[in-house]
Order: sequence, then C-alpha cells, then structure tokens
Amino acid sequence: MFDTIIIGTGPAGISAALTLKQLNINFLWIGNKNLSYKINTAEKIRNYPGLNQVSGKEMKEAFLKQINDMDIKITEAQVTGVYDLSSHYAVLCGQDTYEAKSIVLGLGVESIKPILDEVELLGQGVSYCATCDGFLYKNKEITVVSHSKEFEHEVKYLASLASKVNYIALYKDIDMDLSNVNVIKGVPQKIEKNKATKKMELHMKGSVIESDGIFMLKAAISPAVLVPGIEAKDGHIVVDRLMNTNLKGVVAAGDCTGRPYQYAKAVGEGNVAAHSIVNYLNNLK
Ligand SMILES: Cc1cc2nc3c(=O)[nH]c(=O)nc-3n(C[C@H](O)[C@H](O)[C@H](O)COP(=O)(O)OP(=O)(O)OC[C@H]3O[C@@H](n4cnc5c(N)ncnc54)[C@H](O)[C@@H]3O)c2cc1C
Repeated sequence: MFDTIIIGTGPAGISAALTLKQLNINFLWIGNKNLSYKINTAEKIRNYPGLNQVSGKEMKEAFLKQINDMDIKITEAQVTGVYDLSSHYAVLCGQDTYEAKSIVLGLGVESIKPILDEVELLGQGVSYCATCDGFLYKNKEITVVSHSKEFEHEVKYLASLASKVNYIALYKDIDMDLSNVNVIKGVPQKIEKNKATKKMELHMKGSVIESDGIFMLKAAISPAVLVPGIEAKDGHIVVDRLMNTNLKGVVAAGDCTGRPYQYAKAVGEGNVAAHSIVNYLNNLK
C-alpha cells in the first residue's frame, strides 16, 4: 500500500510530487507523461516566477527535467474512481486498482460541462476511459466525442477494437484517416439509451447517432463523479486553507479547488497539500 497517491500531472500534482519526494514519502503518481495539455498549449507565460516569458512547451521541458532529475516516475493511467474503504482508499484505473492511506487530487477543472444524461448513463453504455472500457466494444460500433486533439491516440486505439467509430471531433486540425472511423460534424446535445434495442443514442441538432457505446473523452471530469462523497460546489472541490477536503486524508490542489486558474496558484496549493499529507500520515502513526 502506498502512503499516498497523487492524481494529476499538472502544476498542482507536479508541485505535490516534488515536495513529497523531498520528504521521502512513498507515493504513486498517476497522470500523463506529457504532463497537462494546459501546460503544453500555453503560447506565452508571463506571470510564472523564475521563468521569464516562456512558452508552454518550454515550461513543460523545465518541469520534466526537474521530475527526471529527482527520479520521480509517472504512471500513465486514467483514474475512473476513488473509493473510501474507511481505513484507506482504493483508486481504480480501469482493470487496475491501487491502494493508499491518503490521496492528493490535482485534477484540473472540468471545462466541458456534461451533456444531458451523460453522467446518469456512465457505466451503462457511456464511458470516459478508452483504455479501461475499450475491450467491451470489440467488433462493435461505437461513438466517440472528443474536445481535444490530445485524445486522437485513444480514438485510434478504440478504432483498432471496434468495427466502426462515429467520431465527433469538436476541435480543428483533425488528423484521423482510418477506414473504420467516420468523422462527423455537429454538437452533441443529449444521450439516451433505447430500452428496446439497448443501443445508445447520441442526439445532435437534427440527427441521432445510434451505436453500442459512447466514449466522452475529456481531460477532467467532475470531482463528485470521480470521488464519491467528496464535497464540491459549483464544480470545484471544497477545501480549507490547508487544502483538506471533507474526506479524511484527501487533499486537493490547483484548478480543481477553484479560481483563479493559474500555474502559480496550482503550484502553491500543491505544496501546501503535500505538507498536509505528511501531517496526516504522521498522525496515523
Ligand atoms: C491555453 C492556456 C494558457 C494558459 N496560460 C496561463 C498563463 O499564462 N499563466 C497562468 O498562470 N495560467 C495559465 N493557464 C492556466 C493554467 O494552465 C492552469 O491554471 C494550470 O494548468 C492548473 O494546473 P492544475 O495542476 O490544477 O491542472 P491541470 O494543468 O489541468 O492538470 C490536471 C491534470 O490532471 C490529470 N487528470 C485529470 N483527471 C484525471 C483522471 N481521472 N485520471 C488521471 N489523471 C487525471 C490531467 O490529465 C492533467 O494532467 C493557461 C491555460 C490554458 C488552457
């Protein structure tokens, strides 16, 4: 069992990981080896102390160098649920489960609001995770909605399993040239499950796409969906000044705790959150 699991590889998670490593805490860090699209896509950053007018890519390189120099490893996975087992926490990543005494949430903020009945139908034909649930749709027809180019490799993975993919790409510069992927234009409005045929229906303006399953690929999902029982308000996790949430041993940092959405705030909160975890672990002894 880990002392703590950090979820998220944005500035908040990075800051927490650097601090916990320095304090010799045994942790698992789950996220993306490419860190965060919110770092990668920033054109010019002018307000981050010590890095004068850097691009997001330069900032990413600086973060990665520090992570590698401190020999910190990232486990690439999508967390699908964090569950309170009363003595500790279980973190689900599709088929894999990891356990820890405490949790650091650096999830970023859900900028894309769920469409009607998306959350209600999660696990009943709607999935947020290609690598976790893709195998359920081998040789079946699926629909995939993505707001970002960063998920194209996941769409390609799904296309290697499914017989047909209806792909609603809500971004520019689409690079998808696979014979079984049909790129469709339009804005999804709601999801329904047809009780008679058991098919999933994605309702668009003026059309309905029917398939066996729907994948909604996005960088962050609602904290209340990911961590049952966590107190959230207006889509943000409620924390105190020490970044403690209402769940014992669970801290949160960065955009997921509220505005302003800024690197410096995320990094500062990640540091405070890491110190709170150390206090929590010491009190367990
Ligand atoms: C284009 C752009 C330009 C910006 N420019 C500036 C700027 O100049 N100055 C400034 O201060 N701020 C800027 N920002 C805001 C800044 O990027 C954010 O405030 C900052 O990235 C927040 O850090 P974070 O760690 O809280 O979240 P994020 O950077 O969003 O990171 C969240 C991480 O959590 C991971 N994650 C989420 N859910 C899961 C899950 N279920 N399983 C596994 N991993 C998960 C994500 O993959 C990601 O790695 C900009 C943002 C954008 C989009």
